Amino acid sequence: MVPEQSIILIEKISNMISSKTSFIALIGNPVSHSLSPIMQNAAFKYLGLDLIYIAVPCKDENLGLVLNSFKKINCKGLNITIPHKEKVFNLCSEISPIANKLKAINTLKLNSEKEWSATNTDVDGFIYPLKNINLAKKKSIVLGSGGAARSVIQGLINLNLSTISVISRNKSSLDELIKNFDNQIQLQGLLNNDNQAQILIQEADLIVNTTPVGMKTTKHENNVLPYGEAFWSSLNSQTIVYDLIYNPAPTPLLRFSDRKGCVTIDGLEMLVAQGIKSISFWTDGLEVPFHVMNDALKKYL
Ligand code: NAP
Repeated sequence: MVPEQSIILIEKISNMISSKTSFIALIGNPVSHSLSPIMQNAAFKYLGLDLIYIAVPCKDENLGLVLNSFKKINCKGLNITIPHKEKVFNLCSEISPIANKLKAINTLKLNSEKEWSATNTDVDGFIYPLKNINLAKKKSIVLGSGGAARSVIQGLINLNLSTISVISRNKSSLDELIKNFDNQIQLQGLLNNDNQAQILIQEADLIVNTTPVGMKTTKHENNVLPYGEAFWSSLNSQTIVYDLIYNPAPTPLLRFSDRKGCVTIDGLEMLVAQGIKSISFWTDGLEVPFHVMNDALKKYL
């Protein structure tokens, strides 16, 4: 960077941050891939708020310490991401009906007693890119049984799909999740090595990946598909494949599905749409146009 550019950058930062500036943080592990700071800081600027958004990596064992410490400083709210969306429950004193139902939290703010009040904005975010596609009475598959899977299932119920098959490697979280949505829709759970999986993939109208496989981290290899390539052998070109991951773009799964002729959707619009809902929660109703956050991301990517 040439010296003039550094001066401009320093001026820009010092214009934004003062001794009165508060912050909102994304808590997860990993968070280094996250694009939330880019779009949220663009939104705060658009709204003229004296607020910045940062990403804070946090291991499981430090979650309580970090959340309790953030209550005592100028932190106005949090986003919670992988792997803490369920674990954060015990640290909140108010939980919205939707977060309670889903047993997954992605947004927190401090209430008047300086305790964490929690909600979930992922359902609205998930539905956003599907709003112009008629999925009523169609068959769907959800891969993974963690926090995001719960929001996806609720979204699919809201969109009136006929069946949801959840495929997971984790029997206990799968059983728990199926129990959670009992009697609301034709819902079945199966393990990823179940022979029935191939038939379900062949017949699915929509497949949603909620596992982190394919995410840009050092942990996962490049080009890996959820449950391995053989799992996908019966995928047909009529199926819509939606990967909640947005970095890298396209993900290995979406690249593979595109080659098969499928319509593909990545997690970017969901990210923006859930982010807009989070801002509304933190600010008691302020609205940011979709394009403000989306343009910030597009400029960055
Ligand atoms: P989570 O609660 O940790 O759940 C992850 C699920 O994936 C669990 O069922 C987990 O099984 C499974 N899984 C993990 N590694 C796997 C592997 N190598 N093979 C097969 N299954 C595996 O995480 P989450 O909060 O649901 O988030 C999941 C993904 O969705 C993340 O990549 C996140 O970034 C993305 N997401 C995107 C958006 C968006 O706005 N676009 C919003 C929410 C989430 P185990 O229990 O056995 O580990």
